[in-house]
Amino acid sequence: MSALVRDLASALPGMPASADEPDRIAYARDLWPRHHLDVRAGEPARQRPAAIAWPSTTDEVARAVRWARDHGVPLVPFGAGSGVCAGIAPREDVLVMDLKRLARIRRLDPGAPLVEVEAGHMGVPFEQAMERAGLTLGHFPSSILCSTVGGWVAARSAGQCSGAYGKIEDMVAALECVTGDGEVVELRRRTSAPDLVPLVVGSEGTMAVVTSATLRLHPAPAARGFGAWSFPSTKHGWEAMRAMFQAGLRPAVARLYDPFDAMLAKQGGVKGARDEPRGERNGRGEPRGGLRGTALRAVLRRPGALNDLLHTRAATKVMGGAMIVVVFEGTDERAQHGVDEARRLCELLGGACEGEAPARRWLEHRYSVSYRQAPVFANGAFVDTMEVAARWSKLGDLYDGVRRALGEHVFVMAHFSHAYPDGCCIYFSFAGSADPGLVRERGWDAACAATYDRAWRAALAAAVEAGGTLAHHHGVGRSKAPRLGEELGAGVDVVRSLMRAFDPRGILNPGNLVPEKAPPPRQHPAPPSPVPVRIDGASLLACVEGTTTLAEAERLLEDEGLTLDMRMPDGATTVAEWLARGAPGTRDHWLDPADQLLAGLDATLGDGRALTVRPAPRRAVGPDLTALFVGAGGRFGRVDRAWLRVHKRGVTRPAAPAFACERDPGVSPGEARLLDAVERELKG
Ligand SMILES: Cc1cc2nc3c(=O)[nH]c(=O)nc-3n(C[C@H](O)[C@H](O)[C@H](O)COP(=O)(O)OP(=O)(O)OC[C@H]3O[C@@H](n4cnc5c(N)ncnc54)[C@H](O)[C@@H]3O)c2cc1C
Repeated sequence: MSALVRDLASALPGMPASADEPDRIAYARDLWPRHHLDVRAGEPARQRPAAIAWPSTTDEVARAVRWARDHGVPLVPFGAGSGVCAGIAPREDVLVMDLKRLARIRRLDPGAPLVEVEAGHMGVPFEQAMERAGLTLGHFPSSILCSTVGGWVAARSAGQCSGAYGKIEDMVAALECVTGDGEVVELRRRTSAPDLVPLVVGSEGTMAVVTSATLRLHPAPAARGFGAWSFPSTKHGWEAMRAMFQAGLRPAVARLYDPFDAMLAKQGGVKGARDEPRGERNGRGEPRGGLRGTALRAVLRRPGALNDLLHTRAATKVMGGAMIVVVFEGTDERAQHGVDEARRLCELLGGACEGEAPARRWLEHRYSVSYRQAPVFANGAFVDTMEVAARWSKLGDLYDGVRRALGEHVFVMAHFSHAYPDGCCIYFSFAGSADPGLVRERGWDAACAATYDRAWRAALAAAVEAGGTLAHHHGVGRSKAPRLGEELGAGVDVVRSLMRAFDPRGILNPGNLVPEKAPPPRQHPAPPSPVPVRIDGASLLACVEGTTTLAEAERLLEDEGLTLDMRMPDGATTVAEWLARGAPGTRDHWLDPADQLLAGLDATLGDGRALTVRPAPRRAVGPDLTALFVGAGGRFGRVDRAWLRVHKRGVTRPAAPAFACERDPGVSPGEARLLDAVERELKG
């Protein structure tokens, strides 16, 4: 038994802990694909944590955190380790805290409907329990078999049905968490006073350990409606997705495949290479034998040529074009109406009906594709995925820019699987191999890692350049942390301030999300000279100056057939004042989880620093910094301009089933203390 485990056991008798070698290796990493290259090279855990603890109550978590704080031991919260961004890469002095024993359903209120569930509950048994009660959370990440509720919250996860139910941040009504000081606090969503929930959601284990979440539920769907249409190009396809979401349709699932991905989807998905000899290498360290493996590596040696070929018009035609599949859920009538409307819009925009089969096939195999990576690694290559997002008007730039950047290094395909009225996520899948020029010098696996790093660096730079967000739902981890400044600018320092406010000694997951030694953040270009309202019609967003009054904004929007669609509190109120008061008069955000009021903003913090949160339909790049301004009464700074969702006049807005939960609970003493700490830290 190690000294650390002995000390911990005497402080918390009865809480299991281990410093055994197999445990230390098992908890040494998450599923970041670059780690798989180390595993293949025979190094499953280059560094491993000092010990692992398994608390089973909030009280045990709090006592263990206080113990870690008092002993200066860094602590890494661990859900199921399915993260793909190196959020879990513990140093040798770290105590990993596996939360899976915190897995009780504390309260199920079918009337609301809502559930309070502990953070370590695994996805599938949780959803099964909801199903038995005739309910659903509506959150189905492809990793649902191997991820926890706490991991979803910490990483801002998205499920396959985000089109109707939103992302995890749209489902959380309250969180119980333990701060880095070992204090247990309950954070509740509210509008007319500061809301700390959006700051902890996405904090990736660096601000607090989430111990339970109160989540909004829906009635389990009684029926499903299916549809699929092919389109001459990917662009035609995303225009149809945009039309659906902006017309108020909310397909639970809406997936657009680019021509190559569509061809695979029509055939039932990627088939893994089987029966390949594994582990054998030739003299150059290159995996040996196996026809499929040799062919795969040969193809991946020149990815640029292959990517170019597949994106010619002729190839697109041969492959049958792009394809959308949709699944609507709800009552029989709602599901059928959704499919009928989707058909009308798709056919109006050039789509050809593919029948129900592709969508039904997708549902049947919904969790299969993600687990077919292993054979590619076994054959000496690598695969990974990258999920970025942008408003609709920037989606073409994002698609072209990232595809081009990745395509120079790896073979790339894409689908679009999370759409919203104001934008969409693009999910790139890519496969690569060793850089031939480096194999002799560095060996096969290190030469693969070089290609891998180059592809990621180029793709992240292209995403930022195109006006997109670096991550839509996988989070930042350590893999993207060095690029966070490119998106958030001064926001990186704000995230650091939040970390200090919640975790003054910096013991929680150090080095994650924001690197300890970050390059200076990029300054965002100065905003164009103020215009009261600038409209992005394609994205149904308006960039409104903070000094513009609501009445003036509404009048300018009216000229374009648009509206803020709200009960005007007082037309003379400026947009900045209105947001500081929590945007009174707007529609209840629980009515349409896929929609949002505010896509981004420019603000000035209390100490004069400028902060930009670039507009995106949803993001997973740490805490949602807009929460520092909405409903905060100007306590942390003022909004200079805001990207607001605007609505076409005459379009009926969707309404999800009712959700009975207190909308504006008071600020608890624990929350008040944290807000004071945030204010102090932001003032420096
Ligand atoms: C095959 C596959 C498919 C995937 N598909 C999806 C998908 O469809 N959608 C999606 O969003 N993601 C997907 N992912 C990514 C991953 O599953 C998610 O990020 C998931 O939310 C992580 O949950 P986890 O419980 O495994 O967290 P972990 O990997 O254990 O942790 C993730 C991060 O959260 C922190 N953390 C975990 N629990 C807590 C807690 N209770 N309190 C505070 N911090 C905590 C950790 O410190 C770490 O930084 C996929 C991954 C794989 C391998």
